[in-house]
Amino acid sequence: MSEFTRSIFKLLFIITFFAFGTWLVYFTGGTGYAYPYVILLPILLSTAWFGLPGATLGAVAGGLLIGPLMPLDVSTDTYQTIDNWLARIAFFLLIGVFSAGILQSLRLANQRHLHALEIDHKTGLGTQAALNRDLKRLLRRTSQDNPPSSAILLVRMQDLWEILQSMGADTAEQVVKDLANQITQNIEIPHQVYRFSKSELAILFSVESQEEVDRQEKVGAVFDIAKRVGEEETVVKGIPFRVQIVAGSYLIRDNDQNPEIVINRARTGLSVAIENNVPYRRYDPMFDQKTAERVQLIARVRDGLVKQQFQLFYQPKICMRTGRHVGSEALLRWFDQDNKMVMPGLFMPKVESTSLIDPVTRFVIAKACENIKSHNLMSVSINFAIDNLMNSALIEELGRIVASYGVSPESLEIEITEGALIRDPEQAKTAVRTLRDQGFKVSLDDFGTGYSSFQYLTHLPLSGLKIDRAFVENLETSADARTIMESMISMAKALKLEVTVEGIETEEQRKIVTDLGADLVQGFHYSRPLPLTVYQQWAKARS
Ligand code: C2E
Ligand code: MG
Ligand code: MG
Repeated sequence: MSEFTRSIFKLLFIITFFAFGTWLVYFTGGTGYAYPYVILLPILLSTAWFGLPGATLGAVAGGLLIGPLMPLDVSTDTYQTIDNWLARIAFFLLIGVFSAGILQSLRLANQRHLHALEIDHKTGLGTQAALNRDLKRLLRRTSQDNPPSSAILLVRMQDLWEILQSMGADTAEQVVKDLANQITQNIEIPHQVYRFSKSELAILFSVESQEEVDRQEKVGAVFDIAKRVGEEETVVKGIPFRVQIVAGSYLIRDNDQNPEIVINRARTGLSVAIENNVPYRRYDPMFDQKTAERVQLIARVRDGLVKQQFQLFYQPKICMRTGRHVGSEALLRWFDQDNKMVMPGLFMPKVESTSLIDPVTRFVIAKACENIKSHNLMSVSINFAIDNLMNSALIEELGRIVASYGVSPESLEIEITEGALIRDPEQAKTAVRTLRDQGFKVSLDDFGTGYSSFQYLTHLPLSGLKIDRAFVENLETSADARTIMESMISMAKALKLEVTVEGIETEEQRKIVTDLGADLVQGFHYSRPLPLTVYQQWAKARS
């Protein structure tokens, strides 16, 4: 409904209210009785809706309606004196003008308050509230005849948290301010930069073009500018900073009406970019479907945990020096509502990006401890996701948890992945140190598939390294593969790490890695991961 139509409706309502008031005064006997002041209500209403002009007009109209033509007493047909109704008009005017003044000052205070909420005082940029306001205006203006020509880019400053931690809030704010200034100076099309959250900027900009491809390209170009600006050095307090940027974008469509949906779509693009470890993603409707599927999966996993649908399977580890079975890796298996076995690759990557990873891992710890205790298992390794390693409460508590089952920490080994070491090397190092101090072995899983830098290995108090099975596949046919394996094993040994090679499927592979010096192997050649009872039978048969 347009503003004009809304005003007409308001006016009609006020007129009806006046008519009703006048009728009531007449019907109840005239102005000599209690009802004349009912006319004050439509006067106040027109003040609230139409300000001072409304107050003045309303007061005069109200005063006249129950003025010269309205009897003082209908039953005796006595009329009011002029002074009487003129005084009433003056009184109505006074009340109208007075309330208009109060309302106006309340509105101004409210506006000032809203304005304060729309400005980020640290950087002078508009806030999320300002973005909402501007988007609302923009979407109101768009229609099929006037299609939208704007896009939004949500930019996360990845390392801002570290700057904040190491250099303090003032420096971090200055870095954000400089970055926003640089972006503004470098983007040539009309645009506005907002401080969306502590570590996020939003850029609302115009992308005039008939062709969708062209418009998407323009959005990509704005991201390129933000990225380049982030990569350039900003000097704050004499220290040079660079900000790594990741972003999501959304091109506004003509049927978009809700600013929140527009923002959420850019945010979805950003989340997908972060999840896929790429610097930029534009929103795709497929993302929402995937999000819905993921939400459903997470709910089913949560439910499965309550209904005890999870089990641990055990895959033996064999010592190459003695040929003996020395322990196992516990691997999670989910038997869903149809009792169908679901492999961890289908749900763990999704679980790992939610808070559900904590209860899942606590279940794995509890189950592994129960099994170690009741079945006298040899050393068992369990897998920790990045968030588990970053969860200092869990890391510090682990010794106590394990002790509560009467299990010694030497019986449990923790496998971590390189992702945690990359995400926060310092915290990862503290966590590994804390685990080692409590007596747990900690090994690095899937070595070689990620960033594979030996450099950080030297700084970490790890006990072992597991070389990923990707390096095993070509051992029999490729001399290069053997050389790579050899160098990985010898470097790990130089760092005094116990080396496990994963994914051994053939006798030939076993022989090669044994010759190259692997300490332990794990793979289908010996056994697939087995349910607890089958694993025990396997172990018994081998001993
Ligand atoms: P991972 O920790 O590297 O575990 C080894 C995976 O390789 C297991 O897959 C195992 O079945 C498979 N494997 C072992 N030997 C061979 C072989 O000779 N050939 C082949 N082709 N594969 C072999 P699975 O059980 O499907 O687990 C996959 C991944 O899921 C694990 O990789 C681990 O990253 C994750 N995962 C499993 N259980 C847990 C858990 O309790 N917590 C967490 N956070 N992750 C888990
Ligand atoms: Mg593992
Ligand atoms: Mg592995």
